[in-house]
Amino acid sequence: MSDAILVVGGGIAGINCAMNVAEYGRKVYLIDDTPSIGGMMARLDKTFPTNDCSICIEAPQMFDVDNHENIEILTNTELKKVKKTKDGFVVRLVSKAKYVDEEACTGCGACVEACPVSIPDEMDGKIGGTRKLVSMAFPQAVPNVVTVDPRCRYGEMQAEGACIGGCAVDCSQCRECPIALCVKACEKEGKKAIELWQANKNKKLEVKSIVVATGLRDAPPGGDLIDYHAYDNVITNMEFERLMNAGGPTAGHIIRPSDQKHAENIAWIQCAGRGLGKEKGTPYCSKICCMISAKQTIITKEHDASVAATIFYNDLKAYGKGFWGFYTKANENGVRYVKGRPYTVTENPDTRDLTLRYESLDSGDIKSETFDLVVLATGVIPNNRNEKLAKILGLDLDHLGWFKEKDPMMAPLKTNVDGIYLCGGSTGPIDIAESVAQACAASMRAILA
Ligand SMILES: Cc1cc2nc3c(=O)[nH]c(=O)nc-3n(C[C@H](O)[C@H](O)[C@H](O)COP(=O)(O)OP(=O)(O)OC[C@H]3O[C@@H](n4cnc5c(N)ncnc54)[C@H](O)[C@@H]3O)c2cc1C
Repeated sequence: MSDAILVVGGGIAGINCAMNVAEYGRKVYLIDDTPSIGGMMARLDKTFPTNDCSICIEAPQMFDVDNHENIEILTNTELKKVKKTKDGFVVRLVSKAKYVDEEACTGCGACVEACPVSIPDEMDGKIGGTRKLVSMAFPQAVPNVVTVDPRCRYGEMQAEGACIGGCAVDCSQCRECPIALCVKACEKEGKKAIELWQANKNKKLEVKSIVVATGLRDAPPGGDLIDYHAYDNVITNMEFERLMNAGGPTAGHIIRPSDQKHAENIAWIQCAGRGLGKEKGTPYCSKICCMISAKQTIITKEHDASVAATIFYNDLKAYGKGFWGFYTKANENGVRYVKGRPYTVTENPDTRDLTLRYESLDSGDIKSETFDLVVLATGVIPNNRNEKLAKILGLDLDHLGWFKEKDPMMAPLKTNVDGIYLCGGSTGPIDIAESVAQACAASMRAILA
């Protein structure tokens, strides 16, 4: 039996876990079910509590794991089956086709440029983000290769202009695509990297232990009274993060989705979706949202000090090292904290401005104020792939859907299955520093298993 370690999830926790194990001299398989490692951190602008540029910190780490001789990265890859043996685990994986030869693709972007079809980006759609049918997850993606949308096969996007001419041949049989514009562009660069005929690949591994680092996700806005779906200028804090980001769809310009006007008076609503609405919301505090909003207001003021930033909050969570100082910094920068509970929003159809009615938690009075952009701090929830993964690994989830630690006090990061450990957002709401600390601990548990 091999003494290799499998890390499932290539966010900041999985990356750090893999690096520690590899530096210890052990072979690591780092898998992620998306086209690139990087996780949530790769989408952020800057990070509290230091406001360092997120991708500037993470990209060198992604590069290092990619180039470490003990680490094998498998993206677009998920677990299919896991069998526990007396010495470890036999693992079956499936790598979904990217329709690209990862060795041949240099990430030059010629195919992306040639593709005439733009579709709304799954993450940034509301704030105007689009992607091509052939796309790179983000510029610093690892591996730095494109992925072709499966809908491009069999000439299915021909009507949209992705292919020239007709073809009736089954893509899985044909090695010489004569019609796809991305294929033509790649050939023009002297390469043959786009392979529309690719099939999924299965792989079998033997590993000694497994670390689950599958992270968390930003909660989608639900049926709250502040209706995200009804108003263009109500966005989530993740969408605001992307608005601020120079690598995001607006190149860092903080503009309103409705009319691309520079936002001048912005409200952040804490605990959005947490028991404030008609429907059942997130029944716990996500603990990081107070610092996310403090960060976003500080950065907004750095972009333009004249922008008015107001945070409506019930309770302030500043639990970590440097967090209280960060909140103080927001105050010093002119951010207005209002202890109040907004409960309804109405839109002026002419200006598209939004009037919030809220209860002041200091005086009990009902007040209203008008803003040109409203940001919902929606919290974080368990990854939607947890249930499937838990079943495959035989792991317990808690009643909310987070992976359950065997004993959070005396056996943190251990699970109900010996040899399988947890770190980062797979355990619950968490910030980056804590995810990295847990990754170090989990890697040591995995090495000693
Ligand atoms: C809007 C917002 C702003 C934030 N800002 C900050 C900040 O400024 N500072 C800070 O400290 N924290 C911040 N955070 C929190 C931070 O994003 C998390 O702490 C961090 O991303 C957790 O890292 P992770 O590696 O555990 O999970 P993730 O970043 O979620 O990575 C998990 C990875 O696992 C992969 N994966 C998931 N399921 C599977 C599966 N079944 N098989 C294979 N792969 C899988 C995913 O594709 C992903 O790549 C913010 C969060 C949000 C929502």
